[in-house]
Amino acid sequence: MTAEIISGTEIRKEILAEIKQEVEEMKAKYGRGPGLVTILVGSSPASISYVTLKVKTALSVGFHEIQDDQPEDISEADLLALIDKYNNDPTIDGILVQLPLPKHIDDKKVLDAIHPDKDVDAFHPVNVGRLMIGGDAVRFLPCTPAGIQEMIVRSGTETSGAEVVVVGRSNIVGKPIAMMMAQKGIGANATVTIVHTRTKDLAGHCKRADILIVAAGVPDLVKPEWIKPGATVIDVGVNRVGMNEKTGKAILKGDVDFEKAKEIAGKITPVPGGVGPMTIAMLMKNTLTSAKKTLGAA
Ligand code: NAD
Repeated sequence: MTAEIISGTEIRKEILAEIKQEVEEMKAKYGRGPGLVTILVGSSPASISYVTLKVKTALSVGFHEIQDDQPEDISEADLLALIDKYNNDPTIDGILVQLPLPKHIDDKKVLDAIHPDKDVDAFHPVNVGRLMIGGDAVRFLPCTPAGIQEMIVRSGTETSGAEVVVVGRSNIVGKPIAMMMAQKGIGANATVTIVHTRTKDLAGHCKRADILIVAAGVPDLVKPEWIKPGATVIDVGVNRVGMNEKTGKAILKGDVDFEKAKEIAGKITPVPGGVGPMTIAMLMKNTLTSAKKTLGAA
């Protein structure tokens, strides 16, 4: 039987519509909506395209959005002063600094300068610590893991008591999603295993998974025979495997052999159109959450 496809594109639409509705209500009740600033340093085409998409999405849900572009040669001190300005601006609920930054600027110093309560990317050590504590301590969840969890929940996959195997242990995907799935709460309460490059029997672990989350960055790493029949498979990998000569666009592939895996899995995310579209939606959700907390609405 062919698996149900969990479409990130469709779920993102639902989430953005829900956010837009809440923003309208917030504006009516409190006289303002969420405020987001995106800081872009320099003019890398990839960074410009990411920032443009974030700005467009923020405006589409009714946020107050400031795109603050800075020259490539801005000093670290001036960038830190700019962040401090937005940290102290009561109309701004979220601050995003597009990475990578030029070589003369220390990324970590800049990200750590963002006030944890406005750190909607959830990369600040305080937010990483809050995630670890769980429950009410959490203000924001990192966006890609939050998107993964949202897809699991909205696809109706049971997580309580489920065997979850996470392939990959990066700070932005593997480690946080593993911790989130193991916490108490909705879309969690799972028994989690993290596997990585030093794992002895990768296939054996994957075969046990009721929910298999793959974030390795290796095309077709997960073979169809590693998938437990009926499992939910979340493929986070985005690998450029060639170029479409007609469109000039990159051909993308996930970490799972999708065509064969969909004949075994119960539910599966495609690449593209799976986890990818969820990340920006969760960024918007974090900004809304921030505004609600500031306004005392949550
Ligand atoms: P990373 O390179 O930081 O981490 C990859 C992890 O996978 C490592 O912990 C490594 O131990 C593990 N790994 C690599 N090869 C392996 C193998 N052969 N066997 C077992 N484990 C292996 O990568 P990342 O930042 O976590 O990203 C992973 C993938 O997810 C990439 O393809 C990336 O493009 C994609 N990604 C997508 C989104 C999104 O869609 N929004 C966001 C972040 C990352």
